[in-house]
Amino acid sequence: MPIALSRRSFAGSLGLAAGAALLESPLSFVAEAAARTPRPADAILLNSNENPYGPSPKALEAYMQAGRVASRYPDALENEMRAAIAKHHGVAAEQVVLGCGSSEILQMADEAFAGPGRRVVAAEPTFEAVLLYAKAIRADGIIVPLTPDFRHDLPKMAAASAVGVGLVYVCNPNNPTGTIVTGDELAAFVASVPPAVTILVDEAYHHFVEDPRYQSAVELLGKAPNVVVARTFSKIYGMAGLRLGYAVGSKERIEAMAGFASFSNANAGVLAAALASLAEPDLVPRQRKLMNDNRRWLVAELKKQGRRTIPSETNFVMIDVGGDVAPVIAAFRKRNILVGRKFPSLPNWLRITVGKPDEMRAFTAALAEIVPAKVAARSEI
Ligand code: PLP
Repeated sequence: MPIALSRRSFAGSLGLAAGAALLESPLSFVAEAAARTPRPADAILLNSNENPYGPSPKALEAYMQAGRVASRYPDALENEMRAAIAKHHGVAAEQVVLGCGSSEILQMADEAFAGPGRRVVAAEPTFEAVLLYAKAIRADGIIVPLTPDFRHDLPKMAAASAVGVGLVYVCNPNNPTGTIVTGDELAAFVASVPPAVTILVDEAYHHFVEDPRYQSAVELLGKAPNVVVARTFSKIYGMAGLRLGYAVGSKERIEAMAGFASFSNANAGVLAAALASLAEPDLVPRQRKLMNDNRRWLVAELKKQGRRTIPSETNFVMIDVGGDVAPVIAAFRKRNILVGRKFPSLPNWLRITVGKPDEMRAFTAALAEIVPAKVAARSEI
């Protein structure tokens, strides 16, 4: 059953006093950032689903060159970027809005489509930002637990969207589980949600997906004006520190969101780097192969250790550690390996970002010592 999410019950569901205190603050979305610090210079960073290979050399070169226009506002580059994204997706430039990361896109969607009396439906667990920003604008959340195989329960999410809901958030693939909603499931879901409700499909990890049943929600834009798709340059393009995301949707929905964007929310450097990245056709396939191959190695190694993992279509993997993950996270930190935070509704699971091969070797060796495998070989669930 969907769970109506009040401020108190969401904090309570975390089961942590510290988490509750953070969530009481409208600024609680800083909690994740706080959990990421400090980052010792030599630490192995497997905690934030970043791309360890970073931006392409061409993107970095463009970023450096942008220094020459640093004294000017980036309006022209913003227009160029929106046109390039529009061309990339086969839509009009008015159907694109930029964000300071896709986090700002999620915030704009809340501000445009949610508020008091206009609730937000989301899965549990999923990327929390949309519910945290909703809380800041006094919009209640309705959380719908994932299915037993860790996927969005779309029929229940559609049922929960019937009355008093402004926004439904579908994270595809889902963070933290790495699971997908198939193209058919998404199309059926969109058809069953009232047209007045905006459906925000967060495709931050879109580029890693190899499952042929997956389909981007961009394909649905022509038929469903209530669908908005969020993308980011933080993941496959390796620019989490530079900050650029965007949304594509109908002109009306995008205009409504753009009203909440801060002026010049994308800087000249990141715009130049992102334009260079979009113009490099082999960049995405190259990065996908590199990181997905590393993930396959990691999963095979975990299988050899007899561990259970959730099949992932992303650059991170959930691993069953057979007990409370909190001390496991602490033990990794002592070894200077930063791993994902605890997700209260999946307390025995550890989220690991896919790193470079030497980082994966260091991780699996440390895991074998911290949590000796107790069971005989078990593969992905
Ligand atoms: N959406 C999802 C599903 C994420 O996992 C993240 C970051 O990890 C974001 C959005 C935000 O990314 P950014 O603001 O860097 O674009």
